[in-house]
Amino acid sequence: MIIDVQQLGAEGAWYAGTEPAQLLEMEPGATVRPDGPVAFDVMAQLAGRELVVQGTLRVPLACRCNRCTEMFSTSLTISDFLCARELSTGQERVDLADDVREEVLLRLPHYPLCLPACRGLCPQCGQNLNRGPCRCAASPAEGLWAALQGLTLPTPAGRKTGDQHGRSQKEKIEKPGAHAQGAFETADSGK
Ligand SMILES: [Zn+2]
Ligand SMILES: [Zn+2]
Repeated sequence: MIIDVQQLGAEGAWYAGTEPAQLLEMEPGATVRPDGPVAFDVMAQLAGRELVVQGTLRVPLACRCNRCTEMFSTSLTISDFLCARELSTGQERVDLADDVREEVLLRLPHYPLCLPACRGLCPQCGQNLNRGPCRCAASPAEGLWAALQGLTLPTPAGRKTGDQHGRSQKEKIEKPGAHAQGAFETADSGK
């Protein structure tokens, strides 16, 4: 987003257009990634020696749901984009690509969900529960958890750190079964 300062009259000027998604420099395999260019529709004005730009940014996103792991499309709209740059003497053009990138990266969803009420995956069989109940529902899951809790396991040093912080939030939510299994392996290998 390049603003031509000399073209701004006393009232400022509107700028609308798109920036390629590469502007965001996001990893291709990220949980949330751009699915098209970043559109901007902003008003640029001079306030003394400062260039003030405000308006709307919009970017389509491809996200992987944190609960059910399905991909879904959404879009991020930032209607209160605002940045101000002090102009150096004789400066004719200002490139706001960095400001746009920072604003979009700050506002990306950190915990994307395909639906607020996404049911996620069954911890036992892995079925996507949004598509209906799995067979595990017939045999109560409490039995499994009660059995796990009844076991006394040695606690190797560092286990707390490894189990509590070493795994991402995503894994904890998606696969509590796999998580419990991991704890077992850690304990066994400590013998
Ligand atoms: Zn989901
Ligand atoms: Zn199941």
